[in-house]
Amino acid sequence: MTGVETGNPLDSAHDVVICGASFGGLAAARELAGSGADVLVVDRYEIGARPTSACGIPTDWLRELGLIDYELQRFDELVVGVPGATIRLDLPFTFSTFHYDEVCRALWRDCDARFEVAKVNGRLPVQNGVMSIDTDRGTVSAPLVVDALGWRRILAEDGGVQPVDAPLTRALEVHPPGNSDDLAVWVDRRYARAGYGWCFPAGEELRIGACSYVPQDHVRVGADTLAKDLGGEHVRYQGNWIPHRLQPPVDNGVFFVGDSAGQCLPLTAEGIRTALYYGIAAGREMRAVFEGRQRREKALANYAELHDSHRTGFGILLFVQKLIPWIPPRLLAPLFRIYKTQRLVDITFKAYLGLAPPDFASEGQAQRSAQERPRVAV
Ligand SMILES: Cc1cc2nc3c(=O)[nH]c(=O)nc-3n(C[C@H](O)[C@H](O)[C@H](O)COP(=O)(O)OP(=O)(O)OC[C@H]3O[C@@H](n4cnc5c(N)ncnc54)[C@H](O)[C@@H]3O)c2cc1C
Repeated sequence: MTGVETGNPLDSAHDVVICGASFGGLAAARELAGSGADVLVVDRYEIGARPTSACGIPTDWLRELGLIDYELQRFDELVVGVPGATIRLDLPFTFSTFHYDEVCRALWRDCDARFEVAKVNGRLPVQNGVMSIDTDRGTVSAPLVVDALGWRRILAEDGGVQPVDAPLTRALEVHPPGNSDDLAVWVDRRYARAGYGWCFPAGEELRIGACSYVPQDHVRVGADTLAKDLGGEHVRYQGNWIPHRLQPPVDNGVFFVGDSAGQCLPLTAEGIRTALYYGIAAGREMRAVFEGRQRREKALANYAELHDSHRTGFGILLFVQKLIPWIPPRLLAPLFRIYKTQRLVDITFKAYLGLAPPDFASEGQAQRSAQERPRVAV
């Protein structure tokens, strides 16, 4: 049964506790559905209540998750604005936009976990292999725990990540009403000294924002300037930090998923599909533990191995992220014109998609349905 509860004290023990009910946490919980595991998901807000994203994703991710009905707009080009030029890149796959609340609630409908609104404060010492999580409503424990709480890494042994000197990108956007057919980004210092501006159309609204790879740089002026240039109102601000460097995916028995493991892609700050990808991966590993097919240590090791297998790709994106601010603005147009060579666009974008490929979402479903019921083997 799927339940949403609030208020009463929470002290309880479960097979799995998933902290964070956004993309990473919900993807992990969804992968455990039907396993018979007693899964508790906690978040400080109701599911889908607090969007912090422009919600752009490769279309195939929505399709593979069975969520294509939630697509708002689809784009087969990326329009890049640089000083003095506008360059249209013909993409080898399409991107789509969606509404955060709708997709989160749809992911949740596929789960059979229990949900509680609770603020996670941190972790308590491990006892007999069981981890305990301190929340503002009591202590919840389980042998399998996921931190999908976002960039702060609240369950990390070292106390997690603190701005402003951490490897974080700062991002802010406005959501004025409006329409456009173009998925557009601007590599232009008027909007961000070291970063970029964007406009993601989503049905009846535009999501216009700016991000800075330098966490000390504020982005309000850049986001406002871009909105003004596009004729959009400065309304419905939303912003957050976004990690741009990989962090340990496993820490003292806890799975870190999505932004908490720094799995947001550097350069583009695309972190939804990676949170889904690693959430699914962690969910599958935990399911195998619950079903007695492997021990918890093996699950954690497999998950860390997957995370490490993409280090090179993340490293290349981080390298380009660091390089772009050093390129003289007058060289950006000629460089993007060279890059526009279709073969280059195809190769690089396909490699980029391969860092969290959409077919991963449907892999293993057949295998899952054929599996037998379980015993925990932690
Ligand atoms: C302005 C902006 C625009 C973006 N646009 C895009 C985009 O278009 N496409 C894209 O792919 N990525 C985008 N991103 C990045 C993307 O939003 C993140 O990478 C992605 O949301 C990460 O998912 P997650 O599940 O790891 O973490 P989050 O989505 O950050 O979710 C963390 C969850 O943990 C909960 N939580 C946090 N602290 C606590 C606590 N103490 N106790 C209980 N619950 C807690 C939060 O309420 C939240 O539900 C954007 C980011 C920003 C800031």
